[in-house]
Amino acid sequence: MIRKLLRRVFLRGEPAHRPAELIPAERHGIRPEQVSAAARRTCEILQAAGHKAYVVGGAVRDLIAGIQPKDFDVATDATPEQVRALFRRSRIIGRRFQIVHVLHGAETIEVSTFRAAHDEATLKDEHGRVLADNVWGTMEEDAARRDFTINALYYDPTTQQVFDYHHGVRDLQRKTLRMIGDPRARYREDPVRMLRAVRLAAKLDLRMDPQVEAPIREMAPLIEHVPAARLFDEMLKLLLSGHAVEAVHRLREAGLHHGLLPLLDVILEQPLGEKFVMLALEDTDRRVKEGRRTSPGFLFATLLWHEVLANWQARQQAGELPVPALNAAMDEVLTVQGEKLAITRRIIGDIKEIWLMQPRFDKRAGRAPFRLVEQPRFRAAWDFLRLRCESGEAPMELADWWARFAAADNATREAMLKPTPVGTKKRRRRRSSRKADDAAAVAAE
Ligand code: ATP
Ligand code: MG
Repeated sequence: MIRKLLRRVFLRGEPAHRPAELIPAERHGIRPEQVSAAARRTCEILQAAGHKAYVVGGAVRDLIAGIQPKDFDVATDATPEQVRALFRRSRIIGRRFQIVHVLHGAETIEVSTFRAAHDEATLKDEHGRVLADNVWGTMEEDAARRDFTINALYYDPTTQQVFDYHHGVRDLQRKTLRMIGDPRARYREDPVRMLRAVRLAAKLDLRMDPQVEAPIREMAPLIEHVPAARLFDEMLKLLLSGHAVEAVHRLREAGLHHGLLPLLDVILEQPLGEKFVMLALEDTDRRVKEGRRTSPGFLFATLLWHEVLANWQARQQAGELPVPALNAAMDEVLTVQGEKLAITRRIIGDIKEIWLMQPRFDKRAGRAPFRLVEQPRFRAAWDFLRLRCESGEAPMELADWWARFAAADNATREAMLKPTPVGTKKRRRRRSSRKADDAAAVAAE
């Protein structure tokens, strides 16, 4: 019977059909209540309308690995228009990769239609990178075009079975990251998969299969052809995964960090810079694990700080005044970085705000400290200062002073102030303002 089937397949010259292994609940361990009510409801509604619908990808993988998923995606054989018609609060998004966002209360479920494997007709750029992906296919084809075996798992909340086409459950249980298909070809189609490999291995503590790991060093330059906005999203995911320290170590081991943050390799080579970045990443990982808020602005501000610092110091040595020199250094570093990573405008604003507040921590006399603690971003800027002190860039006493100052009442604050330095700057400013007053008075006459 099997021989007959095989002969039929081979005689037709088609690739062998690959049925899914059906994994029962006692082997995968997912309990239906671990899946968000919104995702279950989405599957139920689609299934009731006669479609296939499964929770898919990262959420299934994370649940089997014992991690609470960030979000739930659903895969279906319904087209985006059919999905759209079934849910009142839904909309089709994307062009090259169309999906439907289905809203249930505050939760959004991403519903995607099964996609077909790529063939010669697939639109690609000159480096082999796939550009369009809207050809619908079967569930089996959809599984085959996903990246890693552990990401090609489909969970049916109704039957509680997992459909596993590529031994993903086994790989997950053995803690191995394996690619579906030939890793080199898959990296060529989409170089971001190299970054995903590193990120997922760090997040789930997986060993990369040698075939997954080996080509990365040599193929890393392909990352250059990925649009900056996509790289930025992927880097952000990596850095905010709660496993950033591990991921950055692995990026370096794999030789991938050169292409991503062109400055990161330079920074990591300076001992003070490396200490600062690693402290910042440890801090971010801790925050993510504790469920506290993390800000991308703060994170990128830390990653790029030592580059700004070097540039700023060089400018001051060349005679530029501190504040204009800092502004020029910031712009230069952000421009270089922006070519590789499209850091969004809003995040750039946050980064600059944190940087520009740093020299203000040196002023501990007069009214300036009172104004600084009232700044809405004081806390973020102080966290940044603390990292500078912990890494040895500034004395720890400075961060401690500001923590005490911020917590103190007014009288204590007054007593804490340092004596006003008898610099020339202040007097010069007073003189010039008097001159300005005089000029205004003359003009008024
Ligand atoms: P995370 O937990 O960070 O969300 P994820 O694996 O879910 O990780 P997503 O970007 O949400 O990452 O992707 C959802 C699913 O889509 C993946 O699990 C995988 O099956 C598929 N996928 C994502 N990116 C790719 C890619 N570059 N190539 C092939 N399949 C991909
Ligand atoms: Mg996901």
